[in-house]
Parts: sequence; structure tokens; C-alpha cells
Amino acid sequence: MKKTFILSIAIAFTVLGFAAKKSRSYIDYVNPLIGSQSNFALSNGNTYPAIARPWGMNFWVPQTAKMGDGWVYSYDATHIRGFKQTHQPSPWINDYGQFSLMPVQGMVIDENKRGSWFSHKAEVAKANYYSVYLADHDIVTELTPTERAAIFRFTFPESDSSSVVIDAFDRGSYIKVIPSENKIIGYTTRNSGGVPDNFKNYFVIKFNRRFDYSTAWNSFKPVSAAELTDNHVGAVIGFKTKRGQVVEARVASSFISFEQAERNLLEVADKSFDQVRAEGTDSWNKVLGVVDIEANLDQTRTFYSALYRSTLFPRMFYEYDANGKPVHYSPYNGKVLPGYMFTDNGFWDTFRAQFPLINFLYPSMNKKIQEGLLNTFLESGFLPEWASPGHRDCMVGNNSASIVSEGILKEITPRQMWLPLYEAMLKTANSNHPQVRSTGRLGVDYYNKLGYVPYNVGINESAARTLEYAYNDWCIYQVGLKLKRPAEEIELYKNRSRNFMHLFDPSHNLMRGKNADGTFQSPFNPLKWGDAFTEGNSWHYTWSVFHDVEKLKQLMGGREKFVGMLDSVFAVPPIFDDSYYGGVIHEIREMQIMNMGNYAHGNQPIQHMIYLYNYAGEPWKAQYHLREVMDKLYLPTPDGYCGDEDNGQTSAWYVFSSLGFYPVTPGVDEYVIGSPLVQKAVVNLENGKKIEIKAQDNNKANRYVQSMKVNGKKHSKNYLNYKDLLKGAKIQFTMGNEPATNRGTQPADQPYSFTK
Ligand code: CA
Repeated sequence: MKKTFILSIAIAFTVLGFAAKKSRSYIDYVNPLIGSQSNFALSNGNTYPAIARPWGMNFWVPQTAKMGDGWVYSYDATHIRGFKQTHQPSPWINDYGQFSLMPVQGMVIDENKRGSWFSHKAEVAKANYYSVYLADHDIVTELTPTERAAIFRFTFPESDSSSVVIDAFDRGSYIKVIPSENKIIGYTTRNSGGVPDNFKNYFVIKFNRRFDYSTAWNSFKPVSAAELTDNHVGAVIGFKTKRGQVVEARVASSFISFEQAERNLLEVADKSFDQVRAEGTDSWNKVLGVVDIEANLDQTRTFYSALYRSTLFPRMFYEYDANGKPVHYSPYNGKVLPGYMFTDNGFWDTFRAQFPLINFLYPSMNKKIQEGLLNTFLESGFLPEWASPGHRDCMVGNNSASIVSEGILKEITPRQMWLPLYEAMLKTANSNHPQVRSTGRLGVDYYNKLGYVPYNVGINESAARTLEYAYNDWCIYQVGLKLKRPAEEIELYKNRSRNFMHLFDPSHNLMRGKNADGTFQSPFNPLKWGDAFTEGNSWHYTWSVFHDVEKLKQLMGGREKFVGMLDSVFAVPPIFDDSYYGGVIHEIREMQIMNMGNYAHGNQPIQHMIYLYNYAGEPWKAQYHLREVMDKLYLPTPDGYCGDEDNGQTSAWYVFSSLGFYPVTPGVDEYVIGSPLVQKAVVNLENGKKIEIKAQDNNKANRYVQSMKVNGKKHSKNYLNYKDLLKGAKIQFTMGNEPATNRGTQPADQPYSFTK
């Protein structure tokens, strides 16, 4: 007996020792507060702490701002007024399906009175766990979510009025208090558009104690009714508590029905708080641990926080029915339908690096996302461009074509979906949504007739639209080739993919808006933001020829002129013309204050530009600037981003760039090489293979790639092949503090261009 006991202890220690050594808790590097020190005038990320599971249907956020304010949690705030279920992708798009819980002392219901002082020193924010001391109420609140549910743990003081306010928000809500079951149910309809009339988020909240008192309220005033429907209703329930007494609430919601909300509650039903938290920690460690890096502590924190941000969106907008099958409420037609649905994503931002990252690291996730895209087409007649949860009118381009094509070209999307998705791309590329201007292609008739969207026909940001449509046409053409579609069908897209040439103005060596009669827009100020472009100027947008950098180089007059133009982006002082917006928009300010010339990493159009030096024989310039951006513009602090993070895009840029490569052209099976930030990284691919990246002598000064080996062989190319990486690879960078001006300089070293 004794012997067995000692032996089991020995085994336990061995197992623990092994576990401690072997499994790293990546989630501990994640700081969800990064980017939350932002406001309307200056975005350091415009993020909020999303307390969630990866891609979870619901996120939870401590709410410092008033109901309806997109800056829901601000690092500079002093008060918390609720813990809100949120689906907000960005403060500019705002939220839907929202309601909150707030523990208080007494009957303080009003959101302007119930708020409490808090300190970041008495706050713990983890990807799947949040805890804070609400000083004015002397209550510790903790919460931990699953994909569709959450558990709250309130630790109360000695009091006969320890209460919890449930706020179903305004613009139409419903509440019902069911004391016999320790339960509240309700729904919220507050949204920001993009939903059918029957949209509701049904919630159910079950406490683990009998209520000592309870009441519904209407417009913050108690009402003696068990059930209420009105503009803004809620409930207060309460307990007599001893100091340190813990009350738990289990919360779930559904976009389908109360019955489904109860089913979703099963995610936490018989589990303890600590168990749900431990499962959440495991699920994040699985997602984050796909990449294991060695770098300094600040870089490691920044990296895993960026990977967390890259794996929140697009959000699961589906639930599991009684048979365990995925079903979704369609934000497009209001019906409940079988299959997957994802949402809360602006493709203008995320086609660039965020989707390529999902394809690279989490292809099984993208299979589901692609099915959701096809469902969106079947339910609305269009692929989405900016969904939250349905089509929203925001930004430009037809970049769903990039996201769909990448999945097909990399053979991640299941084959039976290739043709239907191709047909969805064709339809979306040749029409404009009757109500939502940014879905489909605004100006499609002009574009198809003239080859560009004219500047002077009342369609804003026409040059940005044209450049993105041309790239989108290349995406369609590539899929057409892969599907062996008839030449007469796909030649059209091949030709249209060169439409960017229409806008090239050789007198400035820049892209410029063009009138319907073929003359260029005039006057033309290359430093003017907006107008013919979108949230950027001509200097930023000229590089939006993702698929044919070679042709752009030729248009500019060859390699040296092209490099000169790239250099100029950093050399032109950060002056700007904001007249299109009638004031300095935050993206302009974020460029102006960085001391990096006209380089504007805080917004998406230019985020691939630095990598273009690799197409022109001077890769060391990319290496220099990439490390500047990584070192200077990404920090593990509340002001850690340099502009809107935007649903994982700006984070995915950092994740790729830290590893030393980046998907300049998402549909191409190449990643363009930069300068790795890590000392070492292991990428554990889903297919079981490993990519090992080592950067010998890497440090801030030694940012220049001297030489490279892939699987032991010298590698002079400025790109890595996707299919080669899938087989597993050992990549060795040798770094130094002087540019290696003889490496990667030959035309054969350059990455893919359509013209080659
Ligand atoms: Ca942006």
C-alpha cells in the first residue's frame, strides 16, 4: 500500500515535471488590453478586451462606456458599468446582440449611477478569463466563456442587498423573471443595421441560488411585473450575503430561439467555473501553440497577443441543434437554416494577411468559413464584403474574390464547393447589391465598359475601387483556370486584371483618378487622402497591384525608378490634404505622428508595400523597414498598435512578419521573405508537419538577411513556396548588421508577378 503510494507520487511528479517542461502556456503571454487605449481622434488599435474562445459566437467585455458607445472599454476609463455580451467587430461598425450583467449594492439600476471605480491593478484580463474588483460595491466579478455561454462568479460583501442588474438594452427588449427556477430570460434587439426585422438575441441566465428579491424594470425604473416588453427593459435580482459569499450565474444566448439558448447553456450546465476556465485555457493554448517562438519577452507577449487577435474573427454565427448539427439564423433572410455561418469581418482589411494566416495555420477552420461564404451567397445572392452580421455598407472593393480564390487555389476549400463558389464570384463581380453599395461592385457597368470606375460620375473612391476590382479579377481568372473553364469565359477576367494600367499616370509615376472621357482627374494632389482613394492617398494606393508588381515596375520606368518610388514613401514628409474628409481623420493622424514619412502602417492599403523591395532586387530595404515597423509600431502595451487593429489584419501582419515572410498575393502559392523577428520558431502545421525557422545571430542591429538555407540548401529566392512549406521545412536565416547587397538581387529571385 505504502509502496504503491510512493510510486504513484513518483509517477505524478514525473508526469508533472514532464508537463511543465513540455507544454508552454501560450495564453499567459496574451494581453487582451493591448490597443484599448484609443479614442475617436487617435486609434492605438481601437480594440477592446474580447474575453472569448477562439472564433467564439459571443465575446464578453467589461463595459466602461455608456450603452451604444463603440469605444466600449477604454484603458483610460475609471469606471465599469456592466459586463456586456458583445459581437462588435469595430467601434465604427458598432455592436449588435448585446446585453449586460452588473453586480451592485442596493437598487442602483441606472447605467449612469451603477458604475464603479476600478483599477487595472485589481484587474486580471486573460483571453478567456476576466476578473475585477468593483470598489464602490465591494464586489469581485469574474467571468469565463465558452463559445456560446459563460459563467459569472460574483464574490459579495456582507449585505442584505447584494444585487445583479440585468440590462437588455434599448431599441426594443424583453425580460421575464422566473424566481421558481432562479432564472431570467430575455431578448435584445439593439443592433447597428445589417439584420432582418425579426432579428433577436435570446438570452437565458440561471443563478445557483434562490433570489431573495427580484423585480423587472423599465427605463431604469422598477416595475412590479414578472414580464415586460418595451424600448428598454431589464431586471434586478438580489441576495442576502455574508462577506465572501459567492454567487454564480450561467449565461447563454441564441440568435435562433429561447429553446436554442437553453441548449447552448449546456456548454456550461454541469461544469464548475474553474473547469470551464481550464477548458478555455486549453482551447487557446491549442490555437496559440500552433506556433512556438523564441524571442524576447516583449516580443513574445506582442506575438501571442497578435495571434489571439488574429483568431477571434470571423466569428462563428452558428449553433448546434438537438442532433448536434450546425444551424444558423440567417442574417440575410431571417430564416433558420442548416450549416455554417460566420460574420463580423471587413474583407477590405482581412483579405491581405488575416485570411492567409487562417489558411496557413488553421485550414480546417477555413473549410467551415468557406461553407459559410457559400451559404451567404445562397441566402443573399452575394458574397459578403463587410458582414456584421448581415451585409453592411462599408469600404470598397470586391475582395471576397481574394478570400474565396485563396481557399480554392490552395486546395483548402472542399472540392464540391469550388464550382458553386466560382459562380458566386462571377455573380458578385458583375452586379451591385440593390441596397448595400459596398456589396458586389459599385460602378460595375462603367468598370466593365471602360476598364475603370470613372472619377467624375458620382462614385466616390473610384480609383481604389478600380485597383481592387482588377486584383479581384485576377483572382477570378486564376480559379477559372484551375476549374478549366472555357477560354471565352475567363479571358475577360484575364484582361480585366490589367485594368490597373488605366489609372497609371506616368507624369507622376502614381495612380490617379480618371474621368469618363479618358482624361485624368484634375487638379490632382498625390497627398490628398480619400477622394479617388479610400482612407489613404495615391502614394499609399499606387501599390495595390498585388498580382502584377512586375507590370507596375515597368510602368514606373524600370527597377531603379520603382525602388525610388518605394523609397520616397518614407522620404516624403508626413504632410497631407484632408479636405475630402473636412478634417484630420484618425488614420491621417496615425501616419503624421510616427516620423516615418508618408508610410501609414496604421491603415491597411499600404501594409504589403515594404515587401515590394523584394520584387526589385533590393530586399535589404524591406528587411530594414520591416524591422522598424515591428520594433516601433507593435508593443505589448495598451497603446500597442499604430491604428485600427481591424479584425486580426494588423495582427496577422505581425505574426507573418515575425516569422520572416508574408502573403503579398494571397492567391499565389508563395510567401515573400522579410526579416524574421524571432530567434527561432516552430510552426506545427495541421497536417502534422513542422516548419522550423532559425535566425542565427538575430537581434535589433542584425536585421539583415546575409544568407538563407531551406532544408540545408542555399536559398537565394526572395520567396518561399507554400507547397514546399506544407511538406515541412527547416529554414535557416543567417543575420548580420550590414545589408547583403548581393543576395536576392536577380530577376529569378523575385516573387510571382502575372507579367513575367
Ligand atoms: Ca483600417
